[in-house]
Amino acid sequence: MTRAAYRFRAFTIGPDLEPGSEPWSFAMQCTDCNEASEPGEEIQDAQDWAEQHLKANPAHRHYREHVTRPYRAVPGAWQ
Ligand SMILES: [Zn+2]
Repeated sequence: MTRAAYRFRAFTIGPDLEPGSEPWSFAMQCTDCNEASEPGEEIQDAQDWAEQHLKANPAHRHYREHVTRPYRAVPGAWQ
């Protein structure tokens, strides 16, 4: 039987704001019909899609914003 010792390390997981990290993306979805915009890097494009969707479908008044952003685990002290 092999015995092993392990050390644990604390990590902090948070938004990855480092240069070169994956870009954020935004999309809007109409929750009245489930149609959604394509994800894109500009929040204004998603908001413009919702405005156009509302103009074309005046009864569709409920929306959901989808935001995707990268996270990163940063190593801390050994315990
Ligand atoms: Zn709709």
